Amino acid sequence: MTDSLANVPRFLVVAPIGRDGELICGLLNRAGYRSERVQHVRQVEAIDSALLLGLILTDEALLRGGIEAFQKVIRAQPVWSELPSILLTSGANEPSYAMVASRARMEIQSLILLDRPVRKEMLLSAIQVAYNSRQKQLQVRDATDKQSRSDEALRKSEQLAVTGRMMATMAHEVNNPLEALGNLLFLVENSGSLEEAHSFGQLATKELQRISEIVDHTLRFHRAPAKPGFTDVSELAISALTLFRGKLRERHIRERIKVERAFGYCSEGEIRQALVNLIGNAVDAMRDGGNLRIHVSPVSINGVEHARLTIADTGAGIRKEIRQSLFKQFFTTKGSSGTGLGLWLTRDIVRRNGGKLRFRSRTETPSGTVFTIYLPAVPDVQPSQLRGEKIPQTGRRAASTV
Ligand code: ADP
Ligand code: MG
Repeated sequence: MTDSLANVPRFLVVAPIGRDGELICGLLNRAGYRSERVQHVRQVEAIDSALLLGLILTDEALLRGGIEAFQKVIRAQPVWSELPSILLTSGANEPSYAMVASRARMEIQSLILLDRPVRKEMLLSAIQVAYNSRQKQLQVRDATDKQSRSDEALRKSEQLAVTGRMMATMAHEVNNPLEALGNLLFLVENSGSLEEAHSFGQLATKELQRISEIVDHTLRFHRAPAKPGFTDVSELAISALTLFRGKLRERHIRERIKVERAFGYCSEGEIRQALVNLIGNAVDAMRDGGNLRIHVSPVSINGVEHARLTIADTGAGIRKEIRQSLFKQFFTTKGSSGTGLGLWLTRDIVRRNGGKLRFRSRTETPSGTVFTIYLPAVPDVQPSQLRGEKIPQTGRRAASTV
């Protein structure tokens, strides 16, 4: 290969015998396509797929281990690539070539067979088809790359938004017990008896415990491992709820928590974030007080142990017209205080951990919304395995599954 071709997308011509290779390359060049000639299919393995426009092979290239090398090249292609390949074959006249050609055709999907001797126009039109198909594949790859990069950026930005909210919440939460501590210390200083001072001291210790609890749970949120593992989901639910205690009190929201030990095979950090999203939404929905119900229990779905996590609020509910849009990026009804990424991310997280997210909601009195997460306790349960599976009902009304 000449160095000038090293990073240029090109056709590779594998024609080990005679002048075929030279002629094909000449034809390609005159038609405006870059090409390179190699002696064996094995040499193709070293070339980055994005630089391969297609392969043009002659029968001889598939002999002496050529077909195995060809299969290897095809298997090593990235998901976006279906490498266009053109085989020039004399199979019609030579039985041994006919055998390799038919084997190649059976095993390699993207193969075009052309009988030798090939007319120039035939070869050029096959090359044109191969070239167009490759351009389409590269466009799809670029679009997919762009999409996953922007999804990743959105995930990060929602994580940052959550971090910001958690920090504001922590400062706020710590402030209350700090104020109480200040008052209690003042009382200790001015107390008339040792006994009185002692009881104020005990209350002060409780407030200190509260501060350290808040700091501890906030730090857990940031330190939680991202790698999946066998995780006690009930502990996660309690920990996530701890972060909202102050807000619940302020808004006169009663919490009803009923947790049984239930395990999920999941990323602790991700599920923590999903829970904080769902609890945050429930709290936002109850501006004037209400009940926040959190249930965790183990359930068996199709013989597979799952942790079921329910977060229910008695807020205004979700109007039918917007239910379609809930999981779309940037959909929010909270103006500038919302990001519209919480549910999108939550669904993504639950799916990535092999689980399922469902919700039901009603706007008529008594109004409210219930989100339920099912997390399998074993690794590698694909969401599709749960699809169509009867998931135990968590309430009377039919649920939407997303
Ligand atoms: P954000 O909370 O930033 O608005 P989300 O993706 O978390 O973004 O939620 C999208 C929208 O879904 C919210 O703006 C709200 O309208 C609606 N929503 C989510 N959870 C609830 C709930 N528990 N009760 C009522 N509406 C909800
Ligand atoms: Mg939200």
